[in-house]
Amino acid sequence: MPARILDGKAANQQILDELKPRIAQLAAARRAPGLAVVLVGNDPASEIYVGSKVRTCRELGMHSEELRLPDSITTGELLSRVQALNADPAIDGILVQMPLPKHVDSRAVLDAIDPGKDVDGFHPVNVGRLVANLPGPRPCTPAGVMELLRRNGIEVKGKRAVIVGRSDIVGKPMAMLLLHQHATVTLCHSRTADLPGESRRAEILVAAIGRTGMITEDFIAPGAVVIDVGINRVTDRDEAARLTANDPARMAGFDKRGSIVVGDVHPADMARLASAYTPVPGGVGPLTIAMLMSNTLEAAERRLL
Ligand code: NDP
Repeated sequence: MPARILDGKAANQQILDELKPRIAQLAAARRAPGLAVVLVGNDPASEIYVGSKVRTCRELGMHSEELRLPDSITTGELLSRVQALNADPAIDGILVQMPLPKHVDSRAVLDAIDPGKDVDGFHPVNVGRLVANLPGPRPCTPAGVMELLRRNGIEVKGKRAVIVGRSDIVGKPMAMLLLHQHATVTLCHSRTADLPGESRRAEILVAAIGRTGMITEDFIAPGAVVIDVGINRVTDRDEAARLTANDPARMAGFDKRGSIVVGDVHPADMARLASAYTPVPGGVGPLTIAMLMSNTLEAAERRLL
């Protein structure tokens, strides 16, 4: 049977459509929810992410503010910007786009965000709430993965889930969310002794590594559900052809743009072996923005209702 594609764009649209009436209701009763996005420097990928976050806010009728700050900003200056946003009554959510320049203390900046306005769920208070399974904002990418599984009727309870990657942003919170839904969770990383063996045990395999197509057929049990969080740009034509098994549509995209985006899972192997999988692009990525909007609305509802 051909693998089922877990369509992130469709789920994203569904979630946004569900948020719209709640946003309109809050705007009518009190005011529109407000999100501040802080962008330091001019990393092209970060500019694209910030642009689509601000655009989605507008489409939903949310208030958004974009703070573009120079690369030369000091930790102290950035902290005082964050404190001003903490005190701003029109702002319910604050997102500081990562990565920050090397000379800035990222941890200090994230810790300075009011936990009630922390829509990324990275503040230690909210990390604690996640671990304790108490209500609070959940990191957007793993929360998006859970939504995608739920909306596609994929049962998590009792399943063996293996996550490759243990970052604070994706891997660790993903493990917690799956655990709270009663999966039996294995969290792998660069020192895991037998990564293919561990991965092959997975009924649900999540790859969040940042290495193009690293998860190949040796890592995937036939019939597994495979969630590919990775976003990697491939600029070598031969590599693109190998990864996509010369897929005509994807290669046409390569010839047009000079690159394609590929996840951490070998796309052709994943499509051949998985029972269901997230494509890259169009899988997990769109859900991340939807969950950011959802976290912002919930922060506003908590503050205003
Ligand atoms: P990090 O670089 O913070 O973490 C990568 C993790 O992968 C680490 O835990 C690392 O292990 C592990 N790893 C690296 N190499 C190997 C290897 N050879 N074998 C096993 N494990 C390895 O990345 P992020 O979690 O921030 O992001 C991961 C990917 O997801 C990236 O491609 C990123 O672009 C993408 N991403 C996508 C999002 C979306 O919206 N779809 C949002 C966020 C990220 P160790 O800890 O031992 O070093």
